[in-house]
Amino acid sequence: MEVIHTITALKMLLEPRKLAQQKIALVPTMGALHKGHVSLIKIAQQYADIVVCSIFVNPTQFTDPKDLEKYPRPLEHDIEMLQEAGCDFVFMPLVKEMYPAPEQWHIDLGNAEFLLEGEFRKGHYQGVTQIVKKLFDAVDPDLAFFGQKDFQQILMIRQMVAHFGLTLEIISCPIIREDDGLAMSSRNIHLSAEDRKNALVLNKALQYVKDHFNDYSIEELLQKAIDIINSTTGVELDYFTIANTDTLLPEYNKGAKQLIALVAAKVGETRLIDNMMLD
Ligand code: AMP
Repeated sequence: MEVIHTITALKMLLEPRKLAQQKIALVPTMGALHKGHVSLIKIAQQYADIVVCSIFVNPTQFTDPKDLEKYPRPLEHDIEMLQEAGCDFVFMPLVKEMYPAPEQWHIDLGNAEFLLEGEFRKGHYQGVTQIVKKLFDAVDPDLAFFGQKDFQQILMIRQMVAHFGLTLEIISCPIIREDDGLAMSSRNIHLSAEDRKNALVLNKALQYVKDHFNDYSIEELLQKAIDIINSTTGVELDYFTIANTDTLLPEYNKGAKQLIALVAAKVGETRLIDNMMLD
């Protein structure tokens, strides 16, 4: 496995592979890797000849400077994990490599940009799509892999891909959970023992909605889920919604094509998100 820090070096290494018609996959991450990230690498290996994993904590997508500052960066551990997973290239640029000069970025991501995460983290998806486009330009992958854990992010990236008419394929990968149901996240290491226990309520509420989908109306399911979360001390709910998977708008018709439950909450000082497909 090679670790690369510049776009020029990366392009030089990938060029002969492209000429040999090898398929290239990109797995963008911000590091602090866990089994969820590894699952993306493993899925990418099934689709492609070469897997590139990027590790870059992108400043333009952070809406809270403290969140950026305290974002975990265990680089040696990350490199070991990627080596073990059989990743081919790790792209770990410095901020000035990706942003040599300040850059204005604003593209039309549709109405869903301003819902859910977009409402609580204003401008977040402009930053996400900005860096993902730069990574796509650097790697020029045939396929890119993202986790369903960040469901809205995948929608926004698909919008960006359509906006620029890119031809790569975006693949959504399942959420990997701890044995007790907590969705794996780089932010989980910030949870105290108490928070860690309380955080389980997010999965519990999602699972309740999925298990009782046929028993109650959507309004009743939402109320039940919100009650489950609000009855846990130390957990402050930002949103719990049952939404249309295409628009992310709230959906109250159970007959609608595809529904997803999405949740975000602060557990202690740590903000977590999770979701579950309902049908
Ligand atoms: P991050 O490093 O948090 O930016 O995540 C990098 C990629 O890993 C994104 O596509 C995430 O959706 C994905 N990811 C994060 N957590 C999980 C998880 N628990 N299961 C599957 N994919 C995940």
